[in-house]
Amino acid sequence: TTYDIAGLKSRLGGIRTEENPALVKQKSRDFYWYSPTLKRQLDHVVGDIIVSPANEAEVIRTLAAAYELGIPVTPRGTGTGNYGQAMPLSGGIVLDLAGLNTVIAVQPGRFVAEAGAVIADIDKLARGQAQEVRMHPSTYATASVGGFIAGGSGGVGSITWGGLRDAGNVIRLKVVTMEAEPRVLELTGDDLHKVAHAYGTNGIITEVEMPLGPAYAWVDLIFGFDTFERAAGFANSLGEQDGIAKKNLTVIAAPAPHSYFLRHQDYLQPDSHVVIAMIADFAVDATLALARRASAELLFRSDVLADDDKKRLPPGFELTWNHTTLRALRIDPAITYLQTLYPFPDQVALAAKLHAHFGDEVIGHLEFVRFDGKVTCFGLPMVRFTTEERLDEIVRIHEDMGAPVFNPHRYTLEEGGMKQTDDVQLAFKKEADPKGLLNPGKMIAWEDPSYDYKSGKHFLFKSLAEAG
Ligand code: FAD
Repeated sequence: TTYDIAGLKSRLGGIRTEENPALVKQKSRDFYWYSPTLKRQLDHVVGDIIVSPANEAEVIRTLAAAYELGIPVTPRGTGTGNYGQAMPLSGGIVLDLAGLNTVIAVQPGRFVAEAGAVIADIDKLARGQAQEVRMHPSTYATASVGGFIAGGSGGVGSITWGGLRDAGNVIRLKVVTMEAEPRVLELTGDDLHKVAHAYGTNGIITEVEMPLGPAYAWVDLIFGFDTFERAAGFANSLGEQDGIAKKNLTVIAAPAPHSYFLRHQDYLQPDSHVVIAMIADFAVDATLALARRASAELLFRSDVLADDDKKRLPPGFELTWNHTTLRALRIDPAITYLQTLYPFPDQVALAAKLHAHFGDEVIGHLEFVRFDGKVTCFGLPMVRFTTEERLDEIVRIHEDMGAPVFNPHRYTLEEGGMKQTDDVQLAFKKEADPKGLLNPGKMIAWEDPSYDYKSGKHFLFKSLAEAG
């Protein structure tokens, strides 16, 4: 399809645009290449033009012009998503929201920021008032807060506060609709579910209000264990210690930490399964006492490092969540990953059982979280990739053994999520994007209402089928 880009530009006078093919290509991709499947399917995907509004008024003008001309719009924060969420499958406009980066207010217990603000920048301002962002992805340093809400799920902080979509973790969103005269809506409470984790398929988030917590001085601790199951058991019990302020709690199977965490390598051993914990300084002694009782070996603590080492080493959370996979990929390009849930209350036993089942092919990686008041864990196991068929089989084995998989090798909301229509998000898309121009191809319920989730077939968006 060719779009009237000249007509678009004539309507966008004063708004920054970019058509240099190399730059358009760069801003048409995210971290989709974590997945060999998505790499094959999406590698050619490219938009026609980048539009970079500087404020909400320019977002509204851009959407009105795109609506009039029937040009698709795919929003982009900073493009750190992992499933091609921010890739324009039908071409058209890449709406670069990085220019909406004002932190509007930091108040006791909350902040208000434009959607393109980078989370680390918000946190820095909050810390000036002895507060901190309660929850962030491990891409803290680069991710936008709007991209986190539209495309992320949780991360550092989830061991205390739960997931991003749990009640109370977002206070308010301002959303612009894709209509002849775009409306600006304020969503709170249950209405947040309309656009949270909808990949920008049904509205453009321009402003975000989220809670802040008290700022702590965080210390990274790494403990070694002789078995994966004992490491997981210790992480689980540390997670249940409510008096210990903690922000992150990760388990990674040997020998991955030693092989992949190059800058920390001197502290690690090939045969150690590790727990990486982010603990408030006042709670370090209490944590060390618990670790001694569990016969854990203390491998690393960031609070006693020499200044040179402090500068040299990345923060501990940049060894966790999807940074674990990133570090593995840099050393072994054949690594990919899954996203699994080990349901409460059998999480430790189930994770250990799967670890034993796959041996070296699937490397155990657990991220502990508090869900509905209960400590449990997600998995981001690293997979030694052979074929797409084997990858699908590994997914099936996880599900058969009781660990649901949120498949990171699919670009649609449904296949990457609950494998069913989200009626709330679909209804909001009908209202807010009647022409279906926002991030086309990502919501199956919109593209093909008769799609059978139980068919076992991959959904293939028609624009991609034509191009491929
Ligand atoms: P983008 O990738 O630019 O966009 C994400 C999605 O949101 C896209 O669908 C896009 O179209 C849409 N979108 C962006 N901005 C808006 C807006 N203003 N309005 C409407 N829609 C919008 N994720 C986690 O949840 N937890 C983690 O711990 C985590 N760790 C990661 C580690 C690494 C190394 C990598 C590569 C990724 C990780 N991710 C994680 C995924 C990703 O970094 C985060 O979800 C991040 O918050 C996305 O922000 P972004 O600005 O890069 O969004």
